[in-house]
Amino acid sequence: MEGEHMNGIDENLTVEEARGRILERLSALDAESVALFDALHRVLAQDVIAEVDIPPHANSAMDGYALRAGETAGASPQAPCRLRVIGEAAAGHPASAEVVPGTAIRIMTGAWIPAGADAVLRFEDTRLDGEWVEALRAVSVGKDLRSAGEDVRAGQCVLARGTVLRPAEIGMLSALGCESVRVTRRPRVGILATGDELVAPGAPMPPGKIRDANGASNAAQVIAAGGEPVRLGIASDDEPEISERLRTGLAQGIDLLLVSGGVSVGDFDRVKEVLAARGEIGFWRVRMKPGKPLAFGTLMAPGKGIGVPVIGMPGNPVSAMVSFEVFAAPAIRTLLGAAQIVPPRREAVLADGVAHKDRRRHYVRVRLEEGDGRTLARLTGPQGSGILSSMVHADALAILPEDLERIEPGTRVEVILLR
Ligand code: AMP
Ligand code: MG
Repeated sequence: MEGEHMNGIDENLTVEEARGRILERLSALDAESVALFDALHRVLAQDVIAEVDIPPHANSAMDGYALRAGETAGASPQAPCRLRVIGEAAAGHPASAEVVPGTAIRIMTGAWIPAGADAVLRFEDTRLDGEWVEALRAVSVGKDLRSAGEDVRAGQCVLARGTVLRPAEIGMLSALGCESVRVTRRPRVGILATGDELVAPGAPMPPGKIRDANGASNAAQVIAAGGEPVRLGIASDDEPEISERLRTGLAQGIDLLLVSGGVSVGDFDRVKEVLAARGEIGFWRVRMKPGKPLAFGTLMAPGKGIGVPVIGMPGNPVSAMVSFEVFAAPAIRTLLGAAQIVPPRREAVLADGVAHKDRRRHYVRVRLEEGDGRTLARLTGPQGSGILSSMVHADALAILPEDLERIEPGTRVEVILLR
């Protein structure tokens, strides 16, 4: 059946065309509020505008004395400037007194700068003499003083919608006083593995069977991409059974369906038929390796007027994982309203040559090594699309462009990080 064309279906798209066709069917889901401590790795659903300055008040960057800088002019160990200590300020405990000419206030890091003072002289540059302090050097206005709003100004947009919240952003939200934050709802992503040969871990293994890898790797990839996997189990290569499992998934309010296996040209590859019969097929086959027989379409959800997007990924374990990174992860990030949709790329130098003759884009699994100010990408052994070890050992996918016949060692390539 290779070379046979399905009527009216676009075939042999480039990666960008295929991804564009998937993403144009998707948009950001609704927002929800979550407690700040549950917000790690979630995507901001709105801009965050600071309501306050951070810090809220000028404060000391050092332990020392708050004073009037002008009074220290010309001060030295031989000719110190004597000031009377009239009070103390610690972090959380502002001084009540005001610094007037001839006085200073003992101050600790983080304490509010008292009224009248415009600089801090650190302990190391002072000598204490009863209730007097001697300034042993001159300081300029603003020395060792953090001004109000030097980090964040009230009214400023601190975090933009679409930002993925890392620990730094969580800390910033807490510093701004946010107990909860508006984030995009997690996409619910149905995952179905298809194949008569597949057996879940724990179940008996009759002859001819293999364990399912994709149901687990794809579910884990969904979590890593910010989605919520809905595991639909394993379906045999049987159209009614695949349809039934997918219907079960659709009834659970799913935003995206991922099916692995059964999209190739074998006698039992039924997924395309299911899409054609119960929804529509958008395209089939992408000029990439691994992952060529990728299929995309939609299925009608019961009680909903809209089609749920379905990505049919080839069953070989490496193909299913690579197809996920290239197509499903960007789809999930689009549903999340994330600012960064396609995986970020880095440059590396390929350590090995790759024979590459078929004008497809290749995604080869590489380990990255740093050296000589450059990143070296070394193939993780055999690259067959059934060799899951090639993914286990990989730090990244190196992208080999379609227009090169052969890739020589030393070629600069772009890589997508997997760690
Ligand atoms: P298919 O895309 O259905 O033609 O499958 C291609 C190859 O991948 C076959 O050798 C299948 O046995 C294997 N395969 C398909 N699905 C899975 C899976 N979920 N886990 C492990 N191997 C699979
Ligand atoms: Mg199969």
